[in-house]
Amino acid sequence: MSKPVSLEPRFDSFWLWKKRFFVLRDDLIGGEFNGNKARKLHYLLKAELKGIVGIVSCGSALSNAMYSLSVFAKMRNLEFDYFISHIAPNLLECEVGNLAAAVKNGMRLHIALEREALARDFASSLGGRLFIPEGVASPLASAGFKEQAKEIASFCAKNSLCPDIFLPSGTGASAAFLAKHLADMGLGLKIFTCACVGDSQYLKQQITALLGYVPLNLHILNPPKKYHFAKPKPELYAIWQEVNRASGIEFELIYDPVGFLSIFTNLQLLKQDILYIHQGGLLGNLTQLKRYLKNK
Ligand SMILES: *Cc1c(COP(=O)(O)O)cnc(C)c1O
Repeated sequence: MSKPVSLEPRFDSFWLWKKRFFVLRDDLIGGEFNGNKARKLHYLLKAELKGIVGIVSCGSALSNAMYSLSVFAKMRNLEFDYFISHIAPNLLECEVGNLAAAVKNGMRLHIALEREALARDFASSLGGRLFIPEGVASPLASAGFKEQAKEIASFCAKNSLCPDIFLPSGTGASAAFLAKHLADMGLGLKIFTCACVGDSQYLKQQITALLGYVPLNLHILNPPKKYHFAKPKPELYAIWQEVNRASGIEFELIYDPVGFLSIFTNLQLLKQDILYIHQGGLLGNLTQLKRYLKNK
């Protein structure tokens, strides 16, 4: 008999800093792509996409969204053009990680300083192209987080828990949609996040541009100091190792260390157990680990 397949979302738990953590293992959902990118593409995966022959997006050359879109394009037999502003020469030669995998999936890479304007022009001048904003920060991404909100609600109800929810933010789309759906369901859970791109003010602007407002149940915590996105720092590597060791789970190496450092710095604000959302992105760890080892 084959192993029974569980369709239940998976929650793990561990103790750290005298606190109980639960982890929603979104890193394990989906197939070729996972985490919050699978949530974001949940709707598009099944959408009809009439008259669309290709997708166009933009962002960083390390992006997990870029890789996930390349898988999506391949699955749906769509062309994929991606615009970046610049690239480190060693990244072009790197044979592992998000960029290498995306190129292998047929993604065409364009380098242009004004990446977003050029990507939008490219999409509209060719026609039949769907422009997808950086990080899939689009209303199209909302539906997948409704599912996530339901899974969290049912886990909390089943276990009589009322945890503080935490997830680190890039565009803030994941945190904003989750907070919105939990509020719509009438659940009094608090959602905490931190900015990994820019500062809290910038994150609020991004969320306001997407939703029109910042949900009242969404709280932004500050890390102990300002970090440049994806820049290797010894304390980030150290906390990543500490959390991996305590949990027996491999976390992601760009967003999660800033997330856990923000939790650690603000423990007095987090009165409940913490439900941490593991948003996937482990393919990117290969490139980020290389950067850490090189800087040693
Ligand atoms: C993309 C990504 C994020 C950022 O998600 P946003 O919805 O843009 O805030 C956080 N963590 C991981 C692991 C990611 O891949």
